[in-house]
Amino acid sequence: MTEENVYDIVILGGGSGGYAAALRAAELDMSVALVEADKVGGTCLHRGCIPTKALLHAAELADDARESAQYGVHTHLERIDIGEVNQYKDSVVGRLYKGLQGLVAARKVELVNGWGRLVAPDTVEVDGRRLVGRNVVLASGSYSRTLPGLEIGGRVITSDAALTLDWVPKSVVVLGGGVIGCEFASVWRSFGAEVTIIEALPHLVPNEDAAISKAFERAFRKRGIAFSTGVRFESVTQDDSAVHVRLEDGKTFDADLLLVAVGRGPATADLGYEEQGIAMDRGFVLADERLRTNVQNVYAAGDIVPGLQLAHRGFAQGIFVAEQIAGLNPAPIVESGIPRVTYSTPEVASVGLTEAQAKAEHGADKVTTLEYNLGGNGKSQILGTQGFVKLVRLDDGPVVGVHMIGARVGELIGEAQLIVAWEAYPDDVASLVHAHPTQNEALGEAFLALAGKPLHAHA
Ligand SMILES: Cc1cc2nc3c(=O)[nH]c(=O)nc-3n(C[C@H](O)[C@H](O)[C@H](O)COP(=O)(O)OP(=O)(O)OC[C@H]3O[C@@H](n4cnc5c(N)ncnc54)[C@H](O)[C@@H]3O)c2cc1C
Repeated sequence: MTEENVYDIVILGGGSGGYAAALRAAELDMSVALVEADKVGGTCLHRGCIPTKALLHAAELADDARESAQYGVHTHLERIDIGEVNQYKDSVVGRLYKGLQGLVAARKVELVNGWGRLVAPDTVEVDGRRLVGRNVVLASGSYSRTLPGLEIGGRVITSDAALTLDWVPKSVVVLGGGVIGCEFASVWRSFGAEVTIIEALPHLVPNEDAAISKAFERAFRKRGIAFSTGVRFESVTQDDSAVHVRLEDGKTFDADLLLVAVGRGPATADLGYEEQGIAMDRGFVLADERLRTNVQNVYAAGDIVPGLQLAHRGFAQGIFVAEQIAGLNPAPIVESGIPRVTYSTPEVASVGLTEAQAKAEHGADKVTTLEYNLGGNGKSQILGTQGFVKLVRLDDGPVVGVHMIGARVGELIGEAQLIVAWEAYPDDVASLVHAHPTQNEALGEAFLALAGKPLHAHA
């Protein structure tokens, strides 16, 4: 006989979306079962955000060691010991994993380790055990996609294998110039590799404002990162010594590795979703603004829900679902208010609408933009970084987009996100005092300029 347990919420998947829902639901005194086949923390903690950012930090240190002589500090980059870099990366992940396991246990979430399947609209089955939920949250996450005919294996890898490489490639072709591709390109270049990015769309980081994409390309070019944009991959072969990549325009590249970074697909196959009548589109689970699926009391959170595939969106959705189930009537999450950061060198950070999106949505003659160059920002000069802040506002209306490029601009996104989410007017922000000398001041100065009173900016 199968064992049957009843909970207020059964959550399928313990990644950013699933564990956030579990922790918040437990806080709200609900009984929770969290089903996880692998490790709680999911992609973000074990194969995504955290390990990549650890590698990017090591990469930044390598660049600093190479470039510090220009600041009068003479160092010599001896070597990258990738074993030690991986140890550092793994120790960061390990500490956070331990902390998260502690949180899950302390909040009395029942963590059920095993592969779950939705066998009834209110039931997840794990190894013969039936977990019945008054509510069910689907949060099974995503996987690295590939292209038809492009097989992963050997020298053709995805981000999962890239994060566990125990050698530094001398040369890499990166297929895909989005966030993940550009972050790995940045790391490998800093570690000394020859890197070429292939992107089918006309620009790298193609979802960003066009001005940012162009500046990003200039910066990558300057770093010696090569790229082919607006051209599609055709085929790859591999042998003992290299991968041989061919593009549709006939160009060929040989390299140690091909990283396939062409996006992430929803991990929803064979989990019983379709059988239980959950409405889906190309593998994604369709949910309304309250994250309800079409089946009563079944919710979805994270990368399986169409939209930005980001950990902080997953956290927010998880919290939202728990509060929704608890009857707290939370305000729906506004997708355009979710910040986006590419943590390469240079960094890109943005929130809200690009200039093109704002013009398409509100009319080309109703939008004003302003670019503030980091050349006028003291702290950016101290750090030796170039870049700019670009503001997009509606005429006589609020700021609807903030876009930034330069070292460390990811750390500035918090203020930018408040500005866009609170629909601030330039005068609202221009009157706030920003600390000097910070890079944050660049945002303040951009708003001074937009409010018609530029200080450290050429009119
Ligand atoms: C290389 C890389 C870098 C990234 N960097 C960033 C970043 O810097 N910032 C950012 O915001 N986002 C980043 N992301 C994206 C981020 O990792 C995801 O958006 C986030 O992890 C999605 O959370 P999720 O809960 O939807 O899914 P996941 O984190 O994928 O979690 C899903 C969990 O469900 C489990 N699961 C699936 N099916 C079953 C089943 N049948 N039974 C039991 N368990 C199951 C899986 O084991 C997994 O643990 C990155 C992703 C990658 C790949």
